[in-house]
Amino acid sequence: MTDPPRKLIIAIDGPAGAGKSTIASRLARKLGYVNLESGAMYRALALRAIEWDASFDDEAALLKMAQESRITLDRSIGGNRVLLNGKDVSQRIRERDVTEAASRISVHPKVREWMVARQREMGIGGGIVMEGRDIGTRVFPDADLKIFLDADPVIREQRRLDQQQVKGAPAQAMAAELRERDRRDRTRAASPLMAADDAVVLDSTSMSEDEVLNRIGELVEQRLAARR
Ligand code: C5P
Repeated sequence: MTDPPRKLIIAIDGPAGAGKSTIASRLARKLGYVNLESGAMYRALALRAIEWDASFDDEAALLKMAQESRITLDRSIGGNRVLLNGKDVSQRIRERDVTEAASRISVHPKVREWMVARQREMGIGGGIVMEGRDIGTRVFPDADLKIFLDADPVIREQRRLDQQQVKGAPAQAMAAELRERDRRDRTRAASPLMAADDAVVLDSTSMSEDEVLNRIGELVEQRLAARR
């Protein structure tokens, strides 16, 4: 008797607005895997920093805060609830101040190291779809399948604004913030956002959600077939 194939580790990286969260959640449900949204951990720490009035530039203080906090991602299939010290902060961490703060605290190498160690622990045993910016390059360099989901910047901005139903001048400000966060993610020294050498790059600009999901589904099948 041979062992049944181990469940896969699937990494989905890419910039904001490329559709990672929706795709990761739908994919996890389809496969019966756990969906882990790594950005939510950075957001939870950012919320803690806001609540404690900590500087987003103080790496040592942020690391200490991370070490002393309990940041938990819900492991239910397809779910993405986030708990900070036992409190459900899933909604709060989506707000604009936390979004901005998460982008700023995530540049610090020591904060990232702490996050990466926690994220690796969560992946033990496989059966996960983890999405973020550095999952294929840093958290799981040996992931079974790496997807880099990208889209034209204008489309990504529009998707975000539609999602949040923002129009007019606030929309312009939000689009500018998104561009700035993207720039920060791509240019930071520690684990900048980039496709891993062995990632499959999918440009979702003119693909529907179903098309992206089907394409990833085919890749999952290939990976599973290769180990049978
Ligand atoms: O994915 P999400 O937009 O929720 O992530 C919030 C922020 O956390 C991002 O703007 C990015 O700067 C940071 N992040 C990261 N590495 C990850 C996930 C998120 O640097 N793996």
